Amino acid sequence: MKIAVLPGDGIGVEIVAEAVKVLNNLDLNFEMETALVGGAAYETYGHPLPEATLKLAKEADAVLFGAVGDWKYDKLDRPLRPEQAILGLRKNLGLFANFRPAICYEELVDASSLKPELIAGLDILIIRELTGDIYFGQPRGRRVATDGHFPGAEEAFDTMRYSRPEIERIAHVAFQAARKRSKRVTSVDKANVLETFQFWKDVVTEVGQQYPDVELDHMYVDNAAMQLVRAPKKFDVVVTGNMFGDILSDEAAMLTGSIGMLPSASLNASNQGLYEPSHGSAPDIAGKGIANPLATILSAAMMLRFSLNQEAAAVRIETAVKKVLAQGLRTADIFSVGTTRVTTVEMGSAVVKAL
Ligand code: NAD
Repeated sequence: MKIAVLPGDGIGVEIVAEAVKVLNNLDLNFEMETALVGGAAYETYGHPLPEATLKLAKEADAVLFGAVGDWKYDKLDRPLRPEQAILGLRKNLGLFANFRPAICYEELVDASSLKPELIAGLDILIIRELTGDIYFGQPRGRRVATDGHFPGAEEAFDTMRYSRPEIERIAHVAFQAARKRSKRVTSVDKANVLETFQFWKDVVTEVGQQYPDVELDHMYVDNAAMQLVRAPKKFDVVVTGNMFGDILSDEAAMLTGSIGMLPSASLNASNQGLYEPSHGSAPDIAGKGIANPLATILSAAMMLRFSLNQEAAAVRIETAVKKVLAQGLRTADIFSVGTTRVTTVEMGSAVVKAL
């Protein structure tokens, strides 16, 4: 089981170290190799996704990723910015299906900004298409930028597009995931305004005919954003495009209390995957030892389940995380009166102990 470990920038380094610590305490044989990515790689190699890092990721069974980015790179031309590394990995590894479960742990009901009755027992799965849409549209209508900006320019544009096969394969992923849950899929679009999403809706409907046992409904993205905070438990599997999924999955993340709790998996057609927390590099708290490592530790559990075929070990990690929450241990982002505040490293060690 070969794992490429790419910590990246900011808190990425701190939280990945804790996930690696947990993996090393499972009594399984992993071959782990670490490489630079994002701003850290730019500093050393002048590129956020060096050839060697990409090669390592391609050859591994799975990639454990931290986060990339820092505001100090905002002046760089876009291809050199740290965030291009994650886009490059998704594209090069063909990681088209992004799974973002939003589960509200009983112990964290009070950490949510919503009323407890709205989110207690919440368990939804957002499936975001990851390699198409406006983030990968060609041509990127960008003039050559100076310092990453467009002094004197009159316009800038990006192109939204989806092909039939791209929509079909993500729709199949969603319907198959729903079969293992409560057999309901909500496809989120903006078909009332965008041609791309009328096409999306048509193709998802067609694919849905092959899954008569799964109930399909469609919702406009603005309504979905509203329903997610009004009655989130109405959803089960939500499938949507790259940009809407980016936004809605962060919204769903906050329902559960903290973005520091939410793992994610990005898979290609052969179940090779990249596993990362749903959050970014959090430069505002980097280096302070207070970041929540649980999203990354739970991402490692998803890695064991989806790419490494180690279901029992995945369950062990998830059970250990529930145990430390039940013990009242909390990093700053999920701390509330009556619980015990711990650092990033202490949280990782508590999970290891709970294993
Ligand atoms: P962010 O997710 O890094 O942070 C948003 C807020 O959540 C911050 O207040 C941060 O302190 C907090 N937070 C995030 N993770 C946390 C954790 N584990 N524990 C406790 N608190 C946590 O988003 P941002 O501030 O908008 O972006 C910062 C940088 O990260 C940017 O450069 C952005 O481009 C990048 N980014 C990278 C990825 C990625 O690598 N996949 C994803 C999103 C953002």
